[in-house]
Amino acid sequence: MSSAHYQALEPQTSDEDNEDIERPLHQNHLRSSYTSSSSSSACNAPHPMVRKASGGVARRRCILPLVGVALFFVAFCYLTLSGDTRIALGLGGGSEDSEEGSHHGLDSINFRPLNESLHICSESYEDRRQFMQDKPRSEYGQLPIIYFVTPTYPRREQIPELTRLAHTLLHVPRLHWLVADDQEKCNGYMDTLLNRFGMPYTHMVSPMPSKFRNEKPAPRGVANRRAALQWLRQHNLTNGVLYFGDDDNTYDLRLFSEIRKTQRVSMFPVGLIADYGVSGPVVRKGKVVAFLDSWVAGRRWPVDMAGFAVNLEYMAQYPYVNMPYKPGYEEDLFLRSIGLQMSLIEPRGNNCTEILVWHTQTKSKKLGMVRLESKYLDDRSNLGALLLNLKLMGVASTTENEGRNALISKNGKEKPHSAILS
Ligand code: UDP
Ligand code: MN
Repeated sequence: MSSAHYQALEPQTSDEDNEDIERPLHQNHLRSSYTSSSSSSACNAPHPMVRKASGGVARRRCILPLVGVALFFVAFCYLTLSGDTRIALGLGGGSEDSEEGSHHGLDSINFRPLNESLHICSESYEDRRQFMQDKPRSEYGQLPIIYFVTPTYPRREQIPELTRLAHTLLHVPRLHWLVADDQEKCNGYMDTLLNRFGMPYTHMVSPMPSKFRNEKPAPRGVANRRAALQWLRQHNLTNGVLYFGDDDNTYDLRLFSEIRKTQRVSMFPVGLIADYGVSGPVVRKGKVVAFLDSWVAGRRWPVDMAGFAVNLEYMAQYPYVNMPYKPGYEEDLFLRSIGLQMSLIEPRGNNCTEILVWHTQTKSKKLGMVRLESKYLDDRSNLGALLLNLKLMGVASTTENEGRNALISKNGKEKPHSAILS
């Protein structure tokens, strides 16, 4: 198994970039104006996205005297830059649909920079598969790689979900599976499992910050998706396609050939979402013009996480790419952070008439508990090794004294443990 253990890597954005995202917008301007005024290079080369939106403002910043007009400068930036930075963040303005873009409470959202604790447990770039679908691997040539990001978290269904998903992904050529686990520590069992599939993968851990754990609803799968975004950025990947694929969804193999074509942002309907059993774009004359989804709540992009794919070269133009810890708004705000406009959306799945991905959900149950004395968990029977495996998979644990004794039967009758295991 190729296995690498890294320390958390630093995000590539500068502190200034991070601050721009982290703080409420008006605070960002205060801070960036101070930074710019003390650095001539910052004056000469403002961030390209900011420059695009506010070249005149940037020039005026540079000619202001540093001391005498400092207060005026701060007030000026506060009043004028907010709209520009909104555009830089893709939060609104400047588009044909900008009138719908005013979003309830967006300004107060905590756009924390992508600096998750990102720890790589194991990874492999080797593809040991011989065949995918009906062709040998070599015949897939240089197709763009799909970076399939799967947030996952420990619970008893985790290993079965990932096994099932892997058996779909194994049919897909040129795919790198980013498995981002919402926990502190690497799970060696999962490393072995992922490696055994023989496809390129990265297994990382990035736990949800503890302050969000008790929130209802909690931002599920956000810290780990953010870690995967950080990984993509750290690897400077500008060729390929990003897709967020949860561990419990069901994927049609045609989805992958559809999203691989993505030039900027592809969209398609997702089955089994909420009240309508579907969420997806409304398409007229080959263009996305609106959305069908039973929960709008001010979202400009009311789509499910599984309902879009992004070209990495397109995404690379947006250094503020982000996914905030705001339950229900993750997709919308992520898509805003990459400057999405309606005209850029590529409808897929036969003009959004087909379902290529299903929002299936697995019924969750709490950990199993098997009461058995430890003296019987040796190699006289299979039970010691079996229960150890179940413990490693997070499915069941063994106890010596809690609850009812485990039922062991023969010929339809319960037997004492000693009769079978001694
Ligand atoms: N998830 C996570 N941490 C959590 C809860 C969920 O990483 O605390 C992952 C989960 O494995 C899934 C995604 O986030 O891949 C979405 O969660 P879930 O499927 O439970 O939500 P749904 O969208 O189905 O309501
Ligand atoms: Mn789900």
